[in-house]
Amino acid sequence: MEHIAHTCKSCGNVFQGNFCNLCGEKILHASDRSFKRFAETIFKSITFADSKFIKTLWLVLKKPGFLTKQFVEGKRVKYLKPLSLFLVLNLAYFFFPVIQLFNASLNTQLRSSSVLLYLRHLYSNVVATKASTMGVDLAAFSLIYNLKTVGLAKLMVMIFVVIASLPLNLLYFKRNRFFTDHIDYMVELACFNLLVNAIVLSIVTAFTGLGNYLNETSLTIIFIATNLYFLIRASVQFYDEKGWRLILKSIVMMLFLKVALELYRSILFFVTIWSL
Ligand SMILES: [Zn+2]
Repeated sequence: MEHIAHTCKSCGNVFQGNFCNLCGEKILHASDRSFKRFAETIFKSITFADSKFIKTLWLVLKKPGFLTKQFVEGKRVKYLKPLSLFLVLNLAYFFFPVIQLFNASLNTQLRSSSVLLYLRHLYSNVVATKASTMGVDLAAFSLIYNLKTVGLAKLMVMIFVVIASLPLNLLYFKRNRFFTDHIDYMVELACFNLLVNAIVLSIVTAFTGLGNYLNETSLTIIFIATNLYFLIRASVQFYDEKGWRLILKSIVMMLFLKVALELYRSILFFVTIWSL
């Protein structure tokens, strides 16, 4: 059975075994088309019982950095690719982007760009000008803006990932990692944040009374604590960093995450305004 030559249905390559060695297409057997297999596939996609997905998700929580390390070292079959995991979580997050993480409503934009008073002033002016050109009041403009920005944010999250990964090139220069390896690392961090600080946090606040305690301060504390956990553990795992350098570099990265988030939100703000 194994030694029969097959002609690939997708690319025409002649090969032996169950998978095409050029494009990866699978040989379809009669059993693949049985009703039992069909029902299994449906069951899996509905219940999310796909063990690979759950296994990968759990790994990101329990052993930060391990998934990226495996992926970069070419061990890619056992777990979901970081980017695939990211796309699934991103989709889930943007169904209900209650927590302002990669999504930022007009209200959030006008409040949180408070780092520089000048920026806050600029934003208000831009909004006022745009609203009057469109001939709507601020409340109506806010509604239109928020609808538009959610869709754009969903597509633009990768900008955050790339910006946030830049300092890693300097901090871990001696580790001989590729530029894209650092991006993969940051993709895993984004997955972690989408899961812990967006999806799980939203669910917990929706089903318990904890929502009343969530404010700017408590959210910041949760973000800092969870991200430090990830950065410290993942740097040990992925960059073999240890000792005081580990702590110092993790704190530097933590601060830069905030900068990257602000930068990303600014870009999102101007793209949203421009596209209206
Ligand atoms: Zn093929």
